[in-house]
Amino acid sequence: AINEIKVQFPSKSVNEGFARAVVSSFAAQLDPTIDELADIKTAVSEGVTNAIVHGYRRESGIITITARLYEDRRIQLTIRDRGCGIADVHKAMEPCYTTAPEEERSGMGFTIMQTFMDKLRVTSKPGWGTRVVMEK
Ligand code: ATP
Ligand code: MG
Repeated sequence: AINEIKVQFPSKSVNEGFARAVVSSFAAQLDPTIDELADIKTAVSEGVTNAIVHGYRRESGIITITARLYEDRRIQLTIRDRGCGIADVHKAMEPCYTTAPEEERSGMGFTIMQTFMDKLRVTSKPGWGTRVVMEK
């Protein structure tokens, strides 16, 4: 990577806007189009919201975001939580699958991340937490 940042913050919903702003200001080095930047911000929001509302559903904890910029103008974002983790990642990534329908979640977060970014890789295990890696 030609540049890299790492930020950590507690899983409070007020920090979702902070996460979006920090990634967006880092990504500005790419000279992104308005649309590219909007896509990146949306994907970050979905990932961070998931860490807050699902990962740290029971107890609060730390969310780490790493953003890397590569020579070929690729940006890679990693969102990491040490929350409850996901038992079946494949199932969780299916459109409309949610474990929180009563909270009016629509189960579209991963689908949005997949659509708005070029690559999405999710690693998760109960007790270990979740790592979401996205590239654009
Ligand atoms: P929406 O994003 O539309 O509000 P959602 O969050 O339920 O709804 P997704 O973001 O696609 O939908 O996530 C699907 C499911 O994967 C969630 O319902 C939850 O069970 C699980 N999940 C996602 N991220 C995490 C995480 N960081 N930790 C634990 N479980 C997660
Ligand atoms: Mg979600």
